[in-house]
Amino acid sequence: MPYLRLAIPSPLRRLFDYLPPQACEPATLIPGVRVQVPFGRREVTGILIEVSESTEVPLDKLKPAIAVLDTTPPMPATILKLARWAGNYYQHPLGDALSQALPVLLRKGEPCEYAHQHLWRATADADIAQLGKTAARQRELLLLLQEHPRGISEDAIRAEGGQTSLLKKLIEKDLAESFIHKPNADHHSDQPLHEVPLTLNNEQQQAVSAITAAKGFKPFLLQGVTGSGKTEVYLQAIEHFIRQGKQALILVPEIGLTPQTVARFKARFNLPVMVLHSNLTDRQRLDVWLQAREGVARIIIGTRSAIFTPLLNPGIIFIDEEHDTSFKQQDGFRYNARDLAIMRGNFEQIPVVLGTATPAIESLYNAQQGRYQWLKLNQRAGNALPPRFELLDIRQLPLEDGLSTPLIQQIKSHLQQGTQVLIFLNRRGFAPTLMCHDCGWLADCRRCDAHMTLHRKPYHLHCHHCDSQRPVPVNCDHCGSTELKPVGAGTERTEEALQKLFPEFPVIRVDRDTTQRKNAMQQIMDRVHQGLPCILIGTQMLAKGHHFPKVTLVAILNADSGLFSADFRGMERTAQLILQVAGRAGRSDHPGKVVMQTHHADHPTITSLVSEGYQAFAEQELSQRIAAQLPPSMYCAMFRAEASHQGMAERFLRKLRTLLEEDILQPQGVQWIGPLPSPMEKRAGLFRAQLVLQSRDRKALHQQLQSLISTVESDPDARKVRWSVDVDPVDMF
Ligand code: ADP
Ligand code: ZN
Ligand code: ZN
Repeated sequence: MPYLRLAIPSPLRRLFDYLPPQACEPATLIPGVRVQVPFGRREVTGILIEVSESTEVPLDKLKPAIAVLDTTPPMPATILKLARWAGNYYQHPLGDALSQALPVLLRKGEPCEYAHQHLWRATADADIAQLGKTAARQRELLLLLQEHPRGISEDAIRAEGGQTSLLKKLIEKDLAESFIHKPNADHHSDQPLHEVPLTLNNEQQQAVSAITAAKGFKPFLLQGVTGSGKTEVYLQAIEHFIRQGKQALILVPEIGLTPQTVARFKARFNLPVMVLHSNLTDRQRLDVWLQAREGVARIIIGTRSAIFTPLLNPGIIFIDEEHDTSFKQQDGFRYNARDLAIMRGNFEQIPVVLGTATPAIESLYNAQQGRYQWLKLNQRAGNALPPRFELLDIRQLPLEDGLSTPLIQQIKSHLQQGTQVLIFLNRRGFAPTLMCHDCGWLADCRRCDAHMTLHRKPYHLHCHHCDSQRPVPVNCDHCGSTELKPVGAGTERTEEALQKLFPEFPVIRVDRDTTQRKNAMQQIMDRVHQGLPCILIGTQMLAKGHHFPKVTLVAILNADSGLFSADFRGMERTAQLILQVAGRAGRSDHPGKVVMQTHHADHPTITSLVSEGYQAFAEQELSQRIAAQLPPSMYCAMFRAEASHQGMAERFLRKLRTLLEEDILQPQGVQWIGPLPSPMEKRAGLFRAQLVLQSRDRKALHQQLQSLISTVESDPDARKVRWSVDVDPVDMF
């Protein structure tokens, strides 16, 4: 008797055997099809891994599956392979990894088909006279069908007031029929372009030629300063593959998926360009997914999870802003879509391009080692000049809600010249915290080791780490004084100050609080694009992807924020952010200037970034990492644990360390650091700790992880804490 061996979404790292459902011919089943099964008290959707002749489960414990849901696997073989590889590499349970590679509706066991693929129409020779006078409702229904010769869905029939239950009657009389309608894949247009492409400059031309010359798998790092015309390189490289009848997949960061980016692709290509963004319903997502799988969608733009989008004729993959950390999923299945893109390119034998102005140190290392072909765009496209940097030393200068007097002067002169000003402050809310002037008490979060942020609109205290909120106290918790003062400035506060300083100019704030409403971002962009002088103040939402031709002054209020971070990547992140923001200045005919307020104007990192640029900074950073034996010169994985009592998580991780110390099978060359309490030990009421494993040998590290995890899984103590493994962590907290 054959058994079905299934991957099931569950935290357990193993496969599950079931008896085939009744009336099922197991020999005909293709691995990858979905199977509905009872699991504990639930019914879940598993994925068939193999049909096996033997099982280790006692026969009386085996349950029969409920149903096989597909005749062919929804995921093509390469995607199945990619998801399996990812589950394995990121040490994530296979069933969950496979499930996450599927659209939500397929995870839930819905049919793998289009929303309106079953349609109804009247038969060709249907004659209304065949229906008697008394069958008024049937006559209405037939008329409705006749009004839709290309077919109508049952939902639409109901919406028009028709009775779908009567369709049966019409079939019996041979008046109606159902058929399957699918979007048409043969969109063979002789004219795949809407507009004439720009004439490339030399550097762009070389990049496009290198990419389109690639045969089979080839990874590229496209490093182009902001405004160098990377997007134009993407568009023209994509055109090459489109003309061969292939598809392109473009991944962008979460907040980089701006209407502007999508609009540029739609304006260029006279072909289906489809977007997988967070506002889609599950139904819409499945429809896009199917159209990509069937080759109808030719260009697919999406965020992290779109890396699992199946393509019928894969041509090329782009990762835009490849340094962005949103490509790494930060909980559950902790994959990195950028790294998976390289793997996928390898499986599908297609080129993969990582584009950015500020490469991640890892990618720079890969390019230096010759693993990626390195393409550079050093010039801004068109007539735009690179922005000029000025370090504004604010030691001993009074700050007015975050703004120094020399900066206020410069803002004024740019506005008076009729151009726009962008002010970057990576802290939303009114003030980072509230302090008692009499005793120094600070409004801290009760569930985190963090201060609560004061918000004005609406007036409350908010913890940005656990989302808890409370009213603003009138009295100090500690001494009862009423002298409570906001400390420091967030975007709300600086916005208020700017409104007072420049009442005759609009001040537009862009942060998570002002952009939640649908279309809010679009309305803001429309206003900015009118081109009238104004001040934009906001967080990193302003930094990415936007093209503001009228902005001539960019001010960075707190350029020091990452200098003394506990995370070794703190400075890398700050440098990337500073250059992204700076890149918004002077992107067309108006020259741009970037003013950075700093308390460390002579810090070598800041000065090298400003005077020599990102490349010099990054090379220095890379050699420091290599000297300090940090990634990318080492492979790294992190065990995290959290528990309700202080010390518990650390005790659990200490046990792991003991296992490492005592393990005689321990592969050579794996080192560990910790366990240590996390830099923010308490968050959302839980106490957290971490243990880092490192090795120069990836295989040794993975073997060690695997044996540790299987030991932990069988340890009852492990259930008292929440633990997880993060392979190639991008965030050390
Ligand atoms: P990046 O993505 O590198 O920041 P973009 O692709 O957004 O740069 O290009 C910046 C601006 O330069 C855009 O307005 C774009 O239309 C323009 N541009 C790009 N390439 C050219 C070119 N070859 N000739 C003229 N203008 C160009
Ligand atoms: Zn007090
Ligand atoms: Zn909190």
